Amino acid sequence: SLDSRISRISQAMDIYPNFPKPGITFIDIFPIMRSPDVFSDLTDLLVDHIKQTHPNVEIIFGLDARGFLFGPLIAQRLGISFAPIRKAGKLPGETLQASFQLEYGSDKFEVQKCSAAKGQNVIIIDDLLATGGTMAAAYKLMKDLEADVLECIVLVELENLNGRSKIPGKVFSVIKRN
Ligand code: AMP
Repeated sequence: SLDSRISRISQAMDIYPNFPKPGITFIDIFPIMRSPDVFSDLTDLLVDHIKQTHPNVEIIFGLDARGFLFGPLIAQRLGISFAPIRKAGKLPGETLQASFQLEYGSDKFEVQKCSAAKGQNVIIIDDLLATGGTMAAAYKLMKDLEADVLECIVLVELENLNGRSKIPGKVFSVIKRN
């Protein structure tokens, strides 16, 4: 069932208080991949969700770096394209950039202009939504490409940070935590 899948995924993740610095509770999603069965639970759940809610999606965009773990797998299962949104300076050819705030300082995302045509239906995926700054920057890049963002998907949403409020579109999270 959906509930048993979600609880297996939730139990698989490891929680590290005060990493990488005091006050941050780090959620390690990699242990999901220790078990091929739990990893299948996750990919099946996301594929089912997208087929049911957004059958018209054409491209999955994954965020550097942990969105690259799930995005291509899901895109391949759906029979659609995958494309990367990377930290600035990594992608060749013509690109668009968007800056975003981190806890200390800022960072810059970049996307290749050739990765989506105007009006294409896209979904953005990352591992975790915290303050929402990262996903909001990715969303802006998609708008700059004139793509239609159907939904932003994360495995984990830290609900008390209300990152969702920074995203001007739909957000789907598999697991909600505080
Ligand atoms: P934010 O921009 O604050 O929503 O941060 C989201 C990005 O930072 C995602 O790419 C996450 O991988 C990473 N991140 C933020 N907070 C955590 C956390 N508590 N545990 C694991 N990753 C995190």
